Amino acid sequence: MGKKVLVLAEIKDGKLRHVTYEALTVAQQVAQGGEITCALFGSDSAVFTDEISKYGANTLYVVNDERLEVYTTDAYVQTVRQLVDEVEPEVILMGHTAIGKDLAPRLAARLKLGLISDCTEAVLDDDTVVFTRPIYAGKAFQRRRFRNGTVFATLRPNNFEVLEKPVETEVVPFLPAIKDLRTTVKEIVKKTTGGVDLSEAKIIVSGGRGVKSANGFKPLEELAEVLHGAVGASRGACDADFCDYSLQIGQTGKVVTPDLYIACGISGAIQHLAGMSNSKVIVAVNKDPEAPIFEAADYGIIGDLFEVVPLLTEEFKKAIA
Ligand code: FAD
Repeated sequence: MGKKVLVLAEIKDGKLRHVTYEALTVAQQVAQGGEITCALFGSDSAVFTDEISKYGANTLYVVNDERLEVYTTDAYVQTVRQLVDEVEPEVILMGHTAIGKDLAPRLAARLKLGLISDCTEAVLDDDTVVFTRPIYAGKAFQRRRFRNGTVFATLRPNNFEVLEKPVETEVVPFLPAIKDLRTTVKEIVKKTTGGVDLSEAKIIVSGGRGVKSANGFKPLEELAEVLHGAVGASRGACDADFCDYSLQIGQTGKVVTPDLYIACGISGAIQHLAGMSNSKVIVAVNKDPEAPIFEAADYGIIGDLFEVVPLLTEEFKKAIA
């Protein structure tokens, strides 16, 4: 029998986040012909209706409330709780983003649901969904399922192929009763990562302690710009104050799965690999042929990054022109 699936969509900088399309695709698979409901939050979320209907959502709950324009934990927990009571889903899906990591555990606790977080795969087996998630900093993978009750899972961005499935979407306005808010956002100060969101970037050029200074990131930024990618960093580079911690990739930083990861002057410590080893293609540039990063890399370039990276930039410029 088909399952009722609720997808909690995310809007960032006026666009739907890519992981929302991934969640809708997983919903198509999980629903097995059941109803897919998507929920959008903000003051003008109805503008995304056409886009959402391309990805299989039968119903779209439009939660137009200006207090949801910017994420705050208390407003979202209250709203989604009421929404779950209304929709009564059997499966709830959302991205394992900064918002997902904050919201999902709180919501799961309030709704007394189990949560499978940071999933990288979802397959159907014996009428239940089996989710795969990395454990031990990506060294092993665990398969989890709920045999009974509502299934709640967050999905790691950039791990699921997006499939279109155009359907007729019924739009349902939803007005939550939000009260006693303890948080008000007065200002948002953005840290820049070269304009491309690191956790959803298809190409990442990352620098480690080998870049030697904040200025040493310049050639990496130029390469990232040519490739329309984002710049990332190891904790070594962040600790040395060469860049901001918002760029850190790894066990205690961001987990990324781009199509191409170019590691420059990064030794390849296990804690760094935990954040990027699932990248589809890894290129390492390091002057030490014994650096452990070469074991994780698909392509290795032994050399000085200050010579190699500008050469790569020039060659890509020619290839793209
Ligand atoms: P290094 O290990 O110093 O490596 C620098 C590399 O640059 C060397 O391989 C060197 O050969 C190469 N190099 C130097 N000059 C050049 C040049 N001119 N051209 C080419 N190559 C050059 N680390 C993370 O990255 N992310 C995390 O999330 C993270 N979490 C951690 C959590 C815990 C609990 C702990 C204990 C550690 C964590 N670390 C993390 C730190 C991690 O263990 C390493 O210390 C760190 O990743 C090292 O950074 P690095 O590779 O930039 O520096």
